[in-house]
Amino acid sequence: RQSPVVAATPKKARTVGSVMVTHPERVVYPDAGITKQQVAEYYRAVAGRILPELIGRPLSILRCPDGTGATCFFQKHHADALGAQVRYVRLREKAGGSDRYLYIDDEAGLLELVQMNTIEFHPWGAYADAPDRPDRMIFDLDPAPDVAWPALIEAARDVRAKLREAGLESFVRLTGGKGVHVVAPIRRGPDWAEVKAFCEAFADAMVASSPLTYVATASKAKRRGRIFIDWLRNTRGATSVASWSLRARPGAPVAMPLRWEDLSSASSSSMYDLAAAQRRAARLRRDPWQGYDALDQRLPQVG
Ligand code: ATP
Ligand code: MN
Ligand code: MN
Repeated sequence: RQSPVVAATPKKARTVGSVMVTHPERVVYPDAGITKQQVAEYYRAVAGRILPELIGRPLSILRCPDGTGATCFFQKHHADALGAQVRYVRLREKAGGSDRYLYIDDEAGLLELVQMNTIEFHPWGAYADAPDRPDRMIFDLDPAPDVAWPALIEAARDVRAKLREAGLESFVRLTGGKGVHVVAPIRRGPDWAEVKAFCEAFADAMVASSPLTYVATASKAKRRGRIFIDWLRNTRGATSVASWSLRARPGAPVAMPLRWEDLSSASSSSMYDLAAAQRRAARLRRDPWQGYDALDQRLPQVG
């Protein structure tokens, strides 16, 4: 005998900020039981913190229409269906020709992308109106699976110290995954080739001084026990996850900017989940990256 099928009553769409969120009850993180409504409310709550990371930059978004337990996909090109407040800029494509790259300039655009099941936000290292003039460098530290967390903290500090020797202040974020990003803002001017050349030389110098700790090539074989300094994030069209972005990984971790002083007490890259990040956003007085905007540092000469 068949048991009666009880159809779940679909809840009505709800507005979050100025945006209508459909299927608010849909579970986005099956492991953590987090719904689309909670994701939308999270992004609304941290909008003031994440928007400065996103506004005006071409974005890759990671969309998960069937939740983070199912297939997700990256999207960088604009589509009208993304929402009326989602902007585009026509940019040259590597393969030739050009296409419409998406970006946003306010909270409505942010929430429209969330309504379209965006979980992760990945901005370029340049603005839509000057895509060939990067304004920062990112050193993406990727530990091999057998690298202990304290060694990664030490590596991030080491990168900071070596950047300082080169005259550059930097900032740190937990990615919400396995590693950390060290970010150094630069005055706009140099092109991608110049920035990439500095980053490659910098990573090579780190490897030369501590070859047992670091690698600068993507080769998996060389990585055992080491930290890959992924300097290839610093090319035209490459992205890195925005601070305050959720990650589409179990537990709903968030990419979190930290003060350098707080890095030593961090327990893992994914220590902040959605709820903890939302609490932190509400409580924080000062921006962990305070001083970032006021820095006006030139890209050092290579060599
Ligand atoms: P983790 O700490 O686990 O390494 P991560 O965000 O640094 O997290 P990486 O795989 O090292 O992940 O990638 C670095 C950045 O490169 C990402 O933040 C993302 O912006 C970009 N990226 C990586 N893979 C892709 C991809 N398949 N499509 C688009 N962007 C990607
Ligand atoms: Mn990484
Ligand atoms: Mn990487």
